[in-house]
Amino acid sequence: MVYCPECESDLDVEQDQMEEGEVVSCPECGTDFEVITADPLELRTVGEEDDDEEEDDEDDEEEDAADGGGGGDDDDE
Ligand SMILES: [Zn+2]
Repeated sequence: MVYCPECESDLDVEQDQMEEGEVVSCPECGTDFEVITADPLELRTVGEEDDDEEEDDEDDEEEDAADGGGGGDDDDE
């Protein structure tokens, strides 16, 4: 039995059926929770701006990684 962290209602899911990355909705308060870890079960509220232990998007460094910039621009000698 898994209980809603928000309103402590029964989320109507079994803990051993939860998988990481799965999202469950509380039938009572409507809050969505994402499964962070399945064992022990850890839920994170989805869609709430809460910088508690949230992973920010750090994926946007990939594109600019190879910007040479070696300063070889002036061959005017
Ligand atoms: Zn709830």
